[in-house]
Amino acid sequence: MVDSNEKPAPAAGPHGGAVFVVTGTERLSPTLQRVAFEIRGVPAEEVEEFTASPDTDMYVKLIFPAPEGLTAEELEANSPGEDEDAIVMRTYTLHSVAVEGERITGVVDFVAHGEGLAGPWALAAAEGDWLEVFGPGGNYAPDAGAARHLLAGDAAALPAIAAAMRAMPAEAVGDVVVETPHPSDMGLLPEHPGLRVRHVTPWETPGDALAAAVRQVHVEPEGLQVFVHGEAHAVMKKIRPWLKDLGVTVRGASISGYWRQGRSEEGFRLWKRDNRPED
Ligand SMILES: Cc1cc2nc3c(=O)[nH]c(=O)nc-3n(C[C@H](O)[C@H](O)[C@H](O)COP(=O)(O)OP(=O)(O)OC[C@H]3O[C@@H](n4cnc5c(N)ncnc54)[C@H](O)[C@@H]3O)c2cc1C
Repeated sequence: MVDSNEKPAPAAGPHGGAVFVVTGTERLSPTLQRVAFEIRGVPAEEVEEFTASPDTDMYVKLIFPAPEGLTAEELEANSPGEDEDAIVMRTYTLHSVAVEGERITGVVDFVAHGEGLAGPWALAAAEGDWLEVFGPGGNYAPDAGAARHLLAGDAAALPAIAAAMRAMPAEAVGDVVVETPHPSDMGLLPEHPGLRVRHVTPWETPGDALAAAVRQVHVEPEGLQVFVHGEAHAVMKKIRPWLKDLGVTVRGASISGYWRQGRSEEGFRLWKRDNRPED
């Protein structure tokens, strides 16, 4: 079994991935725990995938030993292929990546939600701890030709929203709507002269406050680029249909759930399979 707290970290991941070695942690806000990493074991020909990607939502799959009690269906949904170790993946945005000579470093901001594998791992992480990672992937970059932007999400999407805002030119205009428990979480977002930022605190059901706040945005579909991510039911069943009804092209747009209330990432993958939008 892979033990990510075993030190020292290996030079490469035991399942062919890279290795994130923790170099420090910082409690950014009551909601967010930042973990800084050195990224080791990336083959030379793949370094640019980390350092030169245009995608601002660049993410990695963090590998954990599979917890006890998963059904075969859950394991199959969240396990990367045939492997003698039972492992599962957790998906996290790379808030930023930097290169100094041959050293690649990065930062991931975790919602400290206290359940599951990754959230608690981040809270307990200490220098020298390591995790194997697969990736990176990414699906969104701000379009300089977009007439307007709509960025909406919850705390899990804050790192990606922050990265998108950092990458937008000063002339970019639009709305940013974020649902997080604490106003201080918003400190993760940079200032931007053309983006109007609104913070809402969650209601009883995660994503409801976000959906209500997004409905208050004046949406002009022509030339609008959207980035909407957060609790899956809110995003896919409330916000996406509303945008579609307004005439926004939702198919192929960057709109998806990042997690599902009451489900681990395994369960969420099954939810996604069963709730694929037909439009
Ligand atoms: C492309 C992508 C990028 C993402 N980037 C980030 C990121 O940068 N930072 C980040 O924190 N998350 C991010 N997420 C979401 C993250 O992958 C999930 O929240 C994941 O389920 C966390 O794993 P876990 O082991 O902590 O909890 P799990 O074992 O998956 O779930 C355990 C329990 O915790 C609940 N839970 C899971 N996530 C949350 C949450 N955010 N808030 C409240 N309850 C929760 C579940 O509903 C479940 O009941 C991203 C997801 C995607 C798809």
